[in-house]
Amino acid sequence: MDSPKVRFQGGAAAVTDALASHVRAKGVKIVLGCVVNKISTTDADAVLVEGVELAEPRSWRAGAALLAIPPRLILPPLISWEPSLPAELAEAAGATPTWMADTTKVLVTYPRPFWREQGLSGTAMGYGEGPINQLYDSCGSDGSEPHALCGFIFGAGADLPGDDTLRLRVIEQLERMFGAEARSALSFSSHRWGEQPLTSGNGGGTGGGHDDMGKSELKIPFGSASHGGAPRVWLSAAETDARHAGLMEGALVAGKRVAEQVILAGIVASKQDSEAAKEEEATCTASGGNAL
Ligand SMILES: Cc1cc2nc3c(=O)[nH]c(=O)nc-3n(C[C@H](O)[C@H](O)[C@H](O)COP(=O)(O)OP(=O)(O)OC[C@H]3O[C@@H](n4cnc5c(N)ncnc54)[C@H](O)[C@@H]3O)c2cc1C
Repeated sequence: MDSPKVRFQGGAAAVTDALASHVRAKGVKIVLGCVVNKISTTDADAVLVEGVELAEPRSWRAGAALLAIPPRLILPPLISWEPSLPAELAEAAGATPTWMADTTKVLVTYPRPFWREQGLSGTAMGYGEGPINQLYDSCGSDGSEPHALCGFIFGAGADLPGDDTLRLRVIEQLERMFGAEARSALSFSSHRWGEQPLTSGNGGGTGGGHDDMGKSELKIPFGSASHGGAPRVWLSAAETDARHAGLMEGALVAGKRVAEQVILAGIVASKQDSEAAKEEEATCTASGGNAL
């Protein structure tokens, strides 16, 4: 395989960090570490969002709530809804997998990028009879430090118990691919996305393809007093976009689509809400994304 085409300098978090700085510069407060667990749309004028931050209850009243979280995470019991979610939406959300939620990611760093010195890209797929299904060179720009290989493991390999076993199997595989120098690893780290409830849901990670995403029911705004008033809630997850389903590009496309719809809907906070918003206008996520 060729080397990866596009990589973010400083990692993908550089994008969300830059967005956060932009938003903060406009005076918007970003709340991190708060898990939203209830959304009510019984009031005709606003949506009420409730959550928990460090065991303390938090709540916001707003003109609109934009949920940029994987669709299946909007379902009870993760978030309870008053009134209940529209049935077609709940069904579509439950049938939409989170992209790569069943994946374990491993990163191995080395003193030297020996694979590059062998004229190899470090990028491989389904090679070397081991747990890693996809492998990518993960060095800094132009091969600078850290000298790293990053692997994605899904399927049976992701079920390997314990990090020690995983490390052993991964290094053995890299040795088969690149030779004995693969044993000179400086560090090994792994992250099991299937065990992250705010990515994969409480049921653990389940795989799924791009074709299972982008369902039209997920793009219909919902939640208004007795479902007769104006919509108050929009989903803008990467998994709502059919073309770039589950990918970062999908998140951007979905975010833009929803932003345009909210502006078109003319949703503005009431004066009373605006006063409260000065104190509490918020983007609320558990670990740094843009969930609310
Ligand atoms: C292992 C792996 C590898 C990937 N590789 C690539 C790749 O190479 N290229 C690519 O384009 N995409 C890749 N993706 C997909 C990419 O990560 C997503 O497309 C992107 O993160 C989606 O952005 P988002 O803002 O829609 O949602 P997310 O990044 O999922 O952000 C949602 C945020 O909401 C938080 N949250 C969830 N529930 C709640 C709640 N109830 N209350 C408050 N906060 C909540 C979560 O903690 C998270 O911070 C990969 C994904 C995984 C798991």
